[in-house]
Amino acid sequence: MTTPRVAPVRFLCAATALLVAGCLDSSAPGPTPGSPGFDGLRAYALVEKQVAFGPRVPGAPGHQAQLDWMLARLDSFAPEVVSDTFEHISSAGDSLVLVNVMARFRPELDRRIVLLTHWDTRPTSDKAADPARRGDPIPGANDGGSGTAVLLELAALMADVPPPLGIDLLFVDGEDFGPTGDDMYLGARRYARQIASGDHVGERPLYGLLLDMVGDADPSFPVEAHSAERASVVVRKVWRAAARLGLSEFFPEAVAGRIYDDHVPLIEAGLPTADLIDFTYGPDNAYWHTPDDVPANVSAATLGMVGRVVTELVYAGG
Ligand SMILES: [Zn+2]
Repeated sequence: MTTPRVAPVRFLCAATALLVAGCLDSSAPGPTPGSPGFDGLRAYALVEKQVAFGPRVPGAPGHQAQLDWMLARLDSFAPEVVSDTFEHISSAGDSLVLVNVMARFRPELDRRIVLLTHWDTRPTSDKAADPARRGDPIPGANDGGSGTAVLLELAALMADVPPPLGIDLLFVDGEDFGPTGDDMYLGARRYARQIASGDHVGERPLYGLLLDMVGDADPSFPVEAHSAERASVVVRKVWRAAARLGLSEFFPEAVAGRIYDDHVPLIEAGLPTADLIDFTYGPDNAYWHTPDDVPANVSAATLGMVGRVVTELVYAGG
């Protein structure tokens, strides 16, 4: 073990940058003064906690356990928490009971944004190399767990240091039920309908930012194509926040990949929303939708990096 490969070396530099400002770009101005520090290790512990509940598949015990835990946690941090329970009949004829959870910070402010992630996990490991495992639910450490962990940790920070604008943290259910798109993005579609009809809670947010798959150990967050085309203002804000923190190496401004994700229904409802997503989870995306989506394949340093960018977006005023 004397010849490190290129990727780990680059990553060590990134990990160091979390502790020593300026490793990557000493000319970066750094975070907005007064903004709280985001701790990737704390977010990582929240990933482990979620995976320990078991699969968060609608109807499974882990789904209810995680819901109870999230609600208790958010109730302790946010002045207002709203659960929105709804039913979806799947294409197989199953009735799913789904819950979107919104934690509202500075609910009195008209100027606000929505930060969202899905909290459910996929019932099947469609992409498992071993066909015998394809019926297993994924553990969902990264896919479901990572975005939820980052936003839950941000909630703790906002409880201590009130944000300068209204923040709605939205944890959507039923993103990954599948197997086809008819039974996916269910919580986001519900919220999008509420936005389109004016039936949403509180003031309408100015824009949205979606976090999905934000924990890979070899992070790269290029710009997603729907986001670039239909939420360019949001993209500019987020990627500039990353640049201020000296993280442009990991947040390249190039457009790469097009993903139908929870942001698309929101865009179609008229709410510009960008998707912050790492398209490649593990070598050649080997861990995505497999039993290998476990905490050991999620990085506290990456969670910390993403958490710092979102924190910077918020405390710079959105
Ligand atoms: Zn997924």
